[in-house]
Amino acid sequence: MLDHEANRVPAGSPHKAISQMWSLNEDKTLKAKLSKPAAEREAMILDSLNRINIKNLTIPTGSGGASSPTINKPTLLLEALASVTWERIKYSVEYHVSQGEETITDINLLEIAMSGVKEIDLWKCPKRDESRTGIDWEWLIGSPKRGWLRYAVQAKKLDPVSMRYGELGHRVGPKGKSERQIDILKRHAQRREAIPLYCLYNHVLEPDYKPYWHCSLDVDVPQLGCSVAPLRVVEEALVKKGRASKRTFRHIHSNPYTLPWRCLVRCGHVLKLYTRGDEFDDDGFGKVRVHRSLPRDISNLFQRDDISEARYDLQAEFIPKRIMVINIGDEEPREVRSEDNIEDDRLPEIRKF
Ligand SMILES: [Zn+2]
Repeated sequence: MLDHEANRVPAGSPHKAISQMWSLNEDKTLKAKLSKPAAEREAMILDSLNRINIKNLTIPTGSGGASSPTINKPTLLLEALASVTWERIKYSVEYHVSQGEETITDINLLEIAMSGVKEIDLWKCPKRDESRTGIDWEWLIGSPKRGWLRYAVQAKKLDPVSMRYGELGHRVGPKGKSERQIDILKRHAQRREAIPLYCLYNHVLEPDYKPYWHCSLDVDVPQLGCSVAPLRVVEEALVKKGRASKRTFRHIHSNPYTLPWRCLVRCGHVLKLYTRGDEFDDDGFGKVRVHRSLPRDISNLFQRDDISEARYDLQAEFIPKRIMVINIGDEEPREVRSEDNIEDDRLPEIRKF
């Protein structure tokens, strides 16, 4: 499906994999095996994985309505993906099958493509342009009536053992001329009039999640599986102060502007950005431009008859590896609660429970 030559990822195929995940935690035999010595245990785990078939797959429940097998809204899709990512990272530790952010991003991309959600269009960089890629994603979220927010996105996975994002200070390019990835992201975002964001994949065990929950909806812990932090939050975390690292889940998620990724399509404090004018400075996102129509470089990609020929702006210094356009419609989503419609321009304070 992710054929590089046919680089528009088709949506709409009947599939419900998004709602499925391993129910290994229900496998008591497997749990018993986990108490065996490490070498023996690894062999047994692989054996057990081989035996798992489609009948062992279950639909997760309790993630904001994602229990419905028919997922037809971007909101439900992003919520389900966050829950599944949360579980995936948890199991990657339990079963010693580590997965990097690139793998998780591509799994999520495939799940989105297979979900059949019509409101989402995807594009993957064709093979011939891959050497010019420098950004993980671009997201265009909005609607023809609301306008569009453009996001330049770098994905990072939490190391679930150290609880740190080890690669936040990553440098790219040849020796002597290397550059911080965060600076490339910032530059690309400025040129494309996009909001620079980090998409963080997480699983953490905390005694209390409230200090890390800044969405105005009720705490739903697995939604922290996919969170987004504005670039300036990560930039601050990269500045060393004393000996304690700030590149941690706790530090970055203590910032009130770090939110579950579904907030971008669902929550009042993000949706009201579309009504604040064409260009303004936001406390969280920084300089925001609301594109009144889908930017031409993006619409050109999707309007071609032969999408396999569609190439990102050839003048661009860097190309995103993937592009996702989400049409959230013109109506306020039904799920948005009244307390979500915040009059104040600032993001809400941590909600008291
Ligand atoms: Zn929210």
